[in-house]
Amino acid sequence: MKIKKVENNYILRIDRGEEIVDSIKKACIENEIKAGGIIGVGAVDELKIGLYNVDNKEYLSETLKGAFEVTNLTGNISTMNGEIYLHLHITVTDENYNAKGGHLNSARVSGTCEIIIKEIKDIIERKKDSETGLNIYDL
Ligand code: FE
Repeated sequence: MKIKKVENNYILRIDRGEEIVDSIKKACIENEIKAGGIIGVGAVDELKIGLYNVDNKEYLSETLKGAFEVTNLTGNISTMNGEIYLHLHITVTDENYNAKGGHLNSARVSGTCEIIIKEIKDIIERKKDSETGLNIYDL
């Protein structure tokens, strides 16, 4: 992974074989980014996506393998109990240009992955919400 900082933006190049979520987290820790927004595109060959079913408070997940374009990666950076907390969603498309997507758990880069982090110079904490079971923004 390579990183370049421009004003309050961090430009990340995540390389072939590297895992996207770990790489973004590493970039946040090393650069002390505690809050912000994330956008990205790229190509991956293995990813684990999920869905949270609010009604029964259960996480479903599925691993996809093959050639995928990352047509959109969107997310945010916050903290929970002082630790970096990433919330990432992804949409990928396959050889037939069909899309799949969901909550992003992990993804391995096949070609390249280009991420832009826009840093927010503040702390946005999360808290457990008992009604939904989710870790929601504590604003
Ligand atoms: Fe999510």
